[in-house]
Amino acid sequence: MTFDNAERLVPRENGIIGSMGTYDDYEPIPPLTCPVCDVSVGHLQGTDGPNRFYRWRQGDAAPVGFGGSPEDLPFLEDDFVGKMEASRLPEDFRMGTLCDNAHVIEAIGHASHGVWTHTEIVEFDWRPRHRFRDPQQ
Ligand SMILES: [Zn+2]
Repeated sequence: MTFDNAERLVPRENGIIGSMGTYDDYEPIPPLTCPVCDVSVGHLQGTDGPNRFYRWRQGDAAPVGFGGSPEDLPFLEDDFVGKMEASRLPEDFRMGTLCDNAHVIEAIGHASHGVWTHTEIVEFDWRPRHRFRDPQQ
């Protein structure tokens, strides 16, 4: 398995600015809808969680998967699966992505007793960001 999402964007405090570092993947259920073009947005990334390449799904307390490459993980340790299953999200956590039409979307997820319960879009940009999605263009 590789870092198939390594080139994707990671939201930072002042907006989506880079792709370095660790993050977690977030899957809102139901998916979000881009406020600009109405496409479904089912996968975002954020750095407010444990940042261990976990995959979080709305409605589940524990991560539902792991998107990293074990040989590259500096934090790989004994009982990795047990620690992942014991991990929980903070009460509020920010996430972001680009929709399929390259509109920036940032959202806040909310967790109650460690379970991600709902998600709200807090920022978006009607100007497509193709230069971020494909630096070769
Ligand atoms: Zn869009």
